[in-house]
Amino acid sequence: MAVDVIVAGGGPVGLMTAALLDAAGISVEVYERNTEPSRQSRGSTVHPRTLEVLTMLDAGDGRRISDVLVAQGKRVRQAHFATLRAKLDYHDLDTPFPFVLMLPQWRTEHALAEYLRTRAVPVHYGADVTDVEQSADEVRIRAAGMSRTARYLVGADGAHSMVRKAASIGFTGDLPTMVGFVADVRLAEHVPGAQYFWNHEAGHASVVPLAEDMTRVFGVEAADTGLTADQVRRRQAEPLTLAELSRVLRAVCGTDFGVHSPSWLSRVSNTTRHAERYRTGRILLVGDAAHVHLPAGGQGLNVGLQDATNLAWKLAAEVHGWAPERLITGEAGYDRERRPVAEGLVASTQAQDALMHNFSRAGAALREMFCGFIERRGEVAAELSAWMSGLGVGYPRPDGAHPLVGAKAPDLALAEGNGTLLRALRPDRFLLLGFTGDADLAGLGSARVQVATAHRHTSGRDRAWETVRAALIRPDGHVAYATESGDGLAEAIAEWTRPDHQPTPARGL
Ligand SMILES: Cc1cc2nc3c(=O)[nH]c(=O)nc-3n(C[C@H](O)[C@H](O)[C@H](O)COP(=O)(O)OP(=O)(O)OC[C@H]3O[C@@H](n4cnc5c(N)ncnc54)[C@H](O)[C@@H]3O)c2cc1C
Repeated sequence: MAVDVIVAGGGPVGLMTAALLDAAGISVEVYERNTEPSRQSRGSTVHPRTLEVLTMLDAGDGRRISDVLVAQGKRVRQAHFATLRAKLDYHDLDTPFPFVLMLPQWRTEHALAEYLRTRAVPVHYGADVTDVEQSADEVRIRAAGMSRTARYLVGADGAHSMVRKAASIGFTGDLPTMVGFVADVRLAEHVPGAQYFWNHEAGHASVVPLAEDMTRVFGVEAADTGLTADQVRRRQAEPLTLAELSRVLRAVCGTDFGVHSPSWLSRVSNTTRHAERYRTGRILLVGDAAHVHLPAGGQGLNVGLQDATNLAWKLAAEVHGWAPERLITGEAGYDRERRPVAEGLVASTQAQDALMHNFSRAGAALREMFCGFIERRGEVAAELSAWMSGLGVGYPRPDGAHPLVGAKAPDLALAEGNGTLLRALRPDRFLLLGFTGDADLAGLGSARVQVATAHRHTSGRDRAWETVRAALIRPDGHVAYATESGDGLAEAIAEWTRPDHQPTPARGL
């Protein structure tokens, strides 16, 4: 029997997409080219909003996936922008996770793969997706010599996505101009916290302790900037060696910190590309398949996991047959909401590129000026923290809508011992919250809308939560509708969930 959704690519974003679809009652299979799960540490910075969305997934032992990861990683209260000396302070962010979690990417992947294993969701390793064809009713793929059919295909197959190419989706942007180095190593010298070095002649290096006695070192030699795309390609093809790493660190930092035992040595570039569409017919793109950029500030993995979170509940609603048009191709559709976020991602990484990789006096002056903005702890620092943490990412608010619409809801405490909002969210239903002391909303509950009472939220920056009387929260934790008078709730629920539409059976065509 065919499945509802095939996910091509079993990296973090593909696994997250599959986990959320499964949690929404959709049959899903993952096809991954590699013969076994990755052990790469690439994306080692997990930001607060990512931990929030990972709280939606139940690890099955009383913990959520976020709890599993937090137990394994190293918490750091401060985040960096462009590796500047002045740090963004996360400690007073309005979230249960006011820190950056340093954790090798393979651990995030492992937790998600384990979740899928316990739920009996097939993840086929050694299954390279080689052909993709779609018709009006289905998508057919070939993987590992077999043909498979699904109602939808999600391309989570990374930067060189064959799904994107097969769907003829353009991937446009800027050619690379630099080649950086990145390695996970052990150091003989003790480095107590993250350190950043600029040397006008030699280049830039960052030395950042990870979990488990490993240290991430990354940066760029000044000679590896201002290159043509061909020069970048040739330089990237040269394997990075421990000897080269040691030489560069000595040149930039004056010491190589006794670098030894690398677990990973690689090169990165600032190639920046963005898919022209995130959807064509029954094919959708998520994660690096949709956007690539300089890995700066630890954002690719995080934004990719948010793509999955935005997509999964909408695609589940579509498979179940009740999704209103606004969720498919309309104003709240996946493409309409996530493409602007990736444009912000591109802008953020390019701005960091400009700040980090300028070795002139002007570059140093620009960095100092930015440090001053951040140290003032005013609007600039707050904006950067909101963006980097992912907590400030919202979706467009229609004209005249309540100011909270589109924003991410805080982790509101629910009444009567029902836990908190993040733990109550599920990818197959909305949450209708009435605030303590207000009218009973039970009559508006249904299979697609869970009703709960929440305590008023008075500790966050957004004062609008103090006066709101009821709010309809989307499955991804963003506000669909909010009211101070209590009016309009039934209409909003009808617009978002089409209660009169009978669900079509999922789990197979
Ligand atoms: C040096 C470096 C440091 C980084 N640091 C951070 C960080 O600190 N924080 C952060 O958020 N991000 C970071 N990133 C970015 C992050 O690693 C990526 O954004 C993330 O891996 C994207 O996940 P993905 O699942 O979209 O793609 P990928 O991780 O690339 O996964 C795609 C998967 O698809 C598989 N695949 C490809 N083609 C096919 C096919 N035809 N058929 C089947 N399977 C296929 C691949 O084998 C792969 O497993 C970093 C990246 C680099 C390179």
